[in-house]
Amino acid sequence: MQSWPSRPVPRVPGTPRPLRLHDTATGEIRPTTPGATATMYVCGITPYDATHLGHAATYLAFDLVHRLWLDNGHEVHYVQNVTDVDDPLLERAERDQDDWVVLGMRETALFREDMAALRVLPPRDYLGAVESIPEIVETVAKLLADGVAYRADDKRYPDIYFDHNGSGRFGSVSNYDEPTMARYFAERGGDPERPGKRHPLDALLWRCARPGEPSWESELGAGRPGWHVECSVIALNRLGMTFDVQGGGSDLIFPHHEFSAAHAEALTGEHPFARHYAHAGMIGLDGEKMSKSRGNLVFVSRLRADHVDMMAVRLGLLSGHYRADRAWTADVLADAEARLARWRAALARDTGPDATDTITRLRDHLADDLDTPQALRAVDAWADAALAGEGGDHSAPARLRDAVDSLLGVAV
Ligand code: ZN
Repeated sequence: MQSWPSRPVPRVPGTPRPLRLHDTATGEIRPTTPGATATMYVCGITPYDATHLGHAATYLAFDLVHRLWLDNGHEVHYVQNVTDVDDPLLERAERDQDDWVVLGMRETALFREDMAALRVLPPRDYLGAVESIPEIVETVAKLLADGVAYRADDKRYPDIYFDHNGSGRFGSVSNYDEPTMARYFAERGGDPERPGKRHPLDALLWRCARPGEPSWESELGAGRPGWHVECSVIALNRLGMTFDVQGGGSDLIFPHHEFSAAHAEALTGEHPFARHYAHAGMIGLDGEKMSKSRGNLVFVSRLRADHVDMMAVRLGLLSGHYRADRAWTADVLADAEARLARWRAALARDTGPDATDTITRLRDHLADDLDTPQALRAVDAWADAALAGEGGDHSAPARLRDAVDSLLGVAV
């Protein structure tokens, strides 16, 4: 798959701060410890609908991780997938009498435009599930051979499942107890009631071809891949074991990230899959969680069509902490538009207060588990002072503009 266009990221003078990030597996805020090349995998979309603000908030959070690593002088190898064949996509295509391939292509194209408009830096590797089928088949075959995967006891459709405890470390990502796992497994695409499985929590690796469903011939028989193994394989084959950050929304903690890690750990015998499992909170609209079932999604493309400034959307989403479940309201957008206007007015001035301190605070707050609310307030303070006519530093506006561009991704 083709990623979206990149943009140059200005170098910021001064001393970068190493990023500390919350890790779901340990429950701690710990330093990220990348080598020369920092490595990150963030789960991509299933392209059956347009990108809503919940998705956007997640990709913005990991965009800041990307930017802080760049600021610290690392190369960044960022990988993202597109689940371009899976039940939700096929169901939506069927409902709308659409061609699932065309629907997937259309929504993926829209997603790329949305990400570019929000100034999200693109992944180096952007891969679809369909184009990854050969490597997924190879992996599933190995899991079968290793005895950690099995065929369901079903003569007609002997689908392949992963023994949930195949790695011996099941639960090490989410730390959920079994009732919680059972609930989320059922709610989030699992099939606990499927006859022929050895345990309700075992996850699908390969689904045998059904009439009317797309399938691919392979040594496993004709079929299509499960979702968790898709991400596991795409990440493992690009980044190897123990990459720096596995990211996504908090609704991916279980079962998705638990199983992606378990597959890779069972396959390699190594642990952990990722050093950090980082998760972004959910975005609600006017007090309700934004979800397709409630029909209250705010789409990035709709805001673009309404000529809403994407930099205000970016600032609005960054005005709350990435880990918090938070609301999107008309006030959040209005506040962000007002903030953007103040920053633009202040940064357009010939002079302002020395920006060194502000840039240091910006870096400190972002390095502290992406504390964007505080980071934005640091820029507010400088803007207020500049608009009040304080300071006579001629280089300050340009320096701060570069820092805001580089570290927050906001063009002012
Ligand atoms: Zn994933």
